[in-house]
This record gives sequence, C-alpha cells and structure tokens, in this order.
Amino acid sequence: MGQLNAGIIPVTPFQQNCTILFDTDDRSGVVVDPGGDVAEIVKAIEDNKLSIAAIWITHGHIDHAGGAMELKDKLGVEILGPHEADRPLLANLENQALRFGITDTVRNCVPDRFLAEGETVGFGEHNFEVLHCPGHAPGHVVYFNRAAKFAHVGDVLFRGSIGRTDLPGGDHAALIRSIKEKLLPLGDDIGFLCGHGPGGRFGEERLSNPFLT
Ligand SMILES: [Zn+2]
Repeated sequence: MGQLNAGIIPVTPFQQNCTILFDTDDRSGVVVDPGGDVAEIVKAIEDNKLSIAAIWITHGHIDHAGGAMELKDKLGVEILGPHEADRPLLANLENQALRFGITDTVRNCVPDRFLAEGETVGFGEHNFEVLHCPGHAPGHVVYFNRAAKFAHVGDVLFRGSIGRTDLPGGDHAALIRSIKEKLLPLGDDIGFLCGHGPGGRFGEERLSNPFLT
C-alpha cells in the first residue's frame, strides 16, 4: 500500500479547495468537492494518471457540489455524501448559482448515496470514517482517515477560523459542538485539509483558534 497523498485544485470564484485524495503507488483516488471548473479537475486527473473511484461531497454548497454531476458524467463514477440533511441544498444548486452570480455550468446534484455517521468509505486500502458535523450546513460530513491521522473537514473548520453560519441551515452552536465534540477529540496530531485556504493540525486550532478558545 502506498502513501495517502492529496492534490488541491482551487475552483469557482470562491477558490474552494477541490481535493484529490490518492494513493502514491497504485494512483487510485477520489475527488472531494468538485464545485466547478470541471475541465481543470479532469486535466489534473489525466496529467497525474489517476484512476478515480468516486466523488465525495462534504456538503451541499455550490462551491463544493456545483460541478459534481458534470464530473460524474465525465468519469462514470458514483457521488457519495453528504448526509441526507443537505438534500434540499443539493436540489437548489442552480438557484444558488443565480444568487451568487456564478456563470459556470452548475447542475442540481443527486448523490448516488447519502452518508451517515459511523459509515466507512474508501478507495484502495485507504479507509475513511464518516463524521456528521452539522453547523455550517445541516448535512455536512467530515472524512477521517485514522491510520493516516488525516481529516478532510470541508467548511467546518479552517486554519484560525470556522465555517460561516449565516447561510440557510447554519447553526453556530451546532458548529462549535461539531468541532469540540467530534473533531478535536480525534487528537492534536490530526492533520487536516479544508474547503478554503491552508490546512493545519487540530492541536494548533485547539490552542490558538480564536473561535474555539
Ligand atoms: Zn460551504
């Protein structure tokens, strides 16, 4: 088994971190949150000779899920996640596009399978536990790889910040609970990538993130 590696492609005017998680040996992988700019994502997959097993969605916001159906058509793979509570957001992506002035082709998203707390998803020999972390969006999920001490946290937590909670379905108290009761207990040494900006380590956020101290 090779190492778990990640490549980031900033997509949409929101510069969302579309993330390709892949195995350095067999080149299998998944695309997390293809929000748009699908041609660039496909090019990165081809340039790096990756074999994509699935598309994973963290939550139903346009910059994370807006390109998922187009990428699914191009790759012929399934869309997994987020939690079913984001079904209404995913069914409303085309309206989100109008509201935010997105001109990229956006399609409402119907995942092949929603995910629930405690499920495991994976590719090759890399397994990720699904954590339901509402607050930024009701159906937000985090993908946690215990062996690699790595989590993809979407828009739940950022380096030095947290996800916004002023969008439909947002809930500040729930978001803080998700972070403090589900993410931080995983350990200070867990490295994370997130939907916007640089990733970091849970321990640093626990000690210095102004929203958590
Ligand atoms: Zn979001």
